[in-house]
Order: sequence, then structure tokens, then C-alpha cells
Amino acid sequence: MTDAPLLDRAPGGPCAYVTLVTNADYLPGAVALVNSLRRTGTTADVVVLHTGGVDPAALAPLAERGARLAVCGLLPTSEEFNLAHSRRAQHTRAPFTKGEKPAFHTPLDNFAKLRLWQLPYERVVFLDADIIVLRSIDRLFDYPEFSAAPNVYESVADFRRLNSGVFAARPSGATFAAMLARLDTPGAFWKRTDQTFLEAFFPDWQGLPVYDNLLQYVWFNLPELWDWTLARVIHFQYEKPWDPANPKRGQLAPLIALWQAFHDDVALPELPEPCTSS
Ligand code: UDP
Ligand code: MN
Repeated sequence: MTDAPLLDRAPGGPCAYVTLVTNADYLPGAVALVNSLRRTGTTADVVVLHTGGVDPAALAPLAERGARLAVCGLLPTSEEFNLAHSRRAQHTRAPFTKGEKPAFHTPLDNFAKLRLWQLPYERVVFLDADIIVLRSIDRLFDYPEFSAAPNVYESVADFRRLNSGVFAARPSGATFAAMLARLDTPGAFWKRTDQTFLEAFFPDWQGLPVYDNLLQYVWFNLPELWDWTLARVIHFQYEKPWDPANPKRGQLAPLIALWQAFHDDVALPELPEPCTSS
């Protein structure tokens, strides 16, 4: 693998928040995320990995908000791998039964997250583009590789799995090469793409508090877990708050209003308590 560096390491220190945008549909998410990070007062760099599929003019708002743009390719995976992880193949072989993915979600693109291991930083906190950060999470830079929060959005059983929307990692070319070797072997199928892969690659993953990656379904499935005083990150897994076709708009209205305020960079709305009528 003789890829050119994705980014020269000039600005800032050794730590960076990194997100990924492979198509214009995820741009509103990245704008809200970058705005939210800035509001926490962090001095760490913010890097947006993008795969060249987005018009440079459309990316400008991210640069205006201080984000560093790093263009990268999708991973050099085989045709067989790409077919196995196409949207149609993935939805057929491992259907989503708990929520809906937006029409614009391309599963294969998720693997491009692994490019962060090629970045010229010592410590990285990766954040999906469908996330808002409510208060500082700079302490996550001190967590070891690989740290992630549990994939909790329905029941206690969820605690055994990680969610790859937020994680702490240490970039390294050697790790990146080892990942590529492990990822694309004959017959490989990673059911939940990068998430399943990362769980297998780092079987001894460290747990982060659930409040470092609070999944939006907790709002209605586990309202007793919702705590505005503790929540640091809200992750809009499955349906996206900016998608006009989001079928859960009503159920998630207060969270969507909050996301919108971060996106528009205006005063935040009042935070109601979730409904706990059980
Ligand atoms: N992503 C992207 N384009 C895609 C699919 C995913 O840029 O077509 C990136 C984006 O950062 C997104 C992340 O990969 O937030 C993971 O996908 P998503 O958040 O939609 O998955 P979920 O959290 O719903 O499992
Ligand atoms: Mn996500």
C-alpha cells in the first residue's frame, strides 16, 4: 500500500476528531457535527475524510467552520467484497429489522472509516457524521485503542456489542495494513460492515460510557436511561434527522429540533424529558 499521505500534518496538536462523508447526503450531518464540536470549545483539529464524491463547493462550509478536508479513496477491496457489501446484497443477506436505513446509505462506504489509521495524528476520536456533541469529549483522546461505547438501543443484551459511531483509535500504517489483510478474504461478509469488522479486529475493545454515544432509539425504547445532564454525544443511528422521508420524525421530534439548532448554529431549544409512561 503506497498511498500518498491523506493530509500534511501542520495545524494543531497530535489529536484530531475525524468524520467521514462519501456523498452529499451526509453533508448536513457533518455541518451539525462540526458546529457542535466547535461549541464544546475543543482545540483539537477536526478532519473530514471525503472520497471525492462530493462537489468541492459543497464541502466549503465545513472548511469555513475550521474543519480540515482530507480526500481519500474507498478501500482497495476486491470486486467480490464490493458485491457482497453492496446495498442490495447487504439488505438481503442481513436485513435490518429494528430500524430503517435512509435510501442514501451505501454500506460499502462505511469501510472508508478505516482510512483514519492513515492520518498523521497520534490520537483520533472518530465520530459518525450523524452525531452531535453536547459537551466536551476531549478526555476520549486519553482512552486506549480501541475504545467504543456499547450498541445500546433496545435492551440489556445490547451491551455485549459495540457501536462504531464513536471510538478512540491510534493511527498507524501497520495497523491499517493489518486491517486490510484481515478485511477482504475470500467469502468475507461483515454483517454490519465496519462495526462488525472492528469488533472482530479488536476483541478486547474497551467500553466507553453509554453517554459518549447515546443512540437516538434510547429516547423511546429505554427512556429511563436518558439523562440530559450526562449525555455528551447523541447519535442518530438508522433514520437521519435531516431526511425529509424520516418515518420517525414525530417520535423523535425533540431530538431532531436539537440537531437542527446545531446545524443552523442558533440558540438551542428547551430539552424536554423523554416519555416514560410504562
Ligand atoms: N457514511 C457516508 N456515506 C454513506 C454511508 C456512510 O459518508 O453512504 C459515513 C457517515 O459518516 C455515516 C457513517 O459512515 O455517519 C456510518 O453510517 P450511518 O451513520 O448512516 O450508519 P448508522 O449509524 O445508521 O449505523
Ligand atoms: Mn451513524
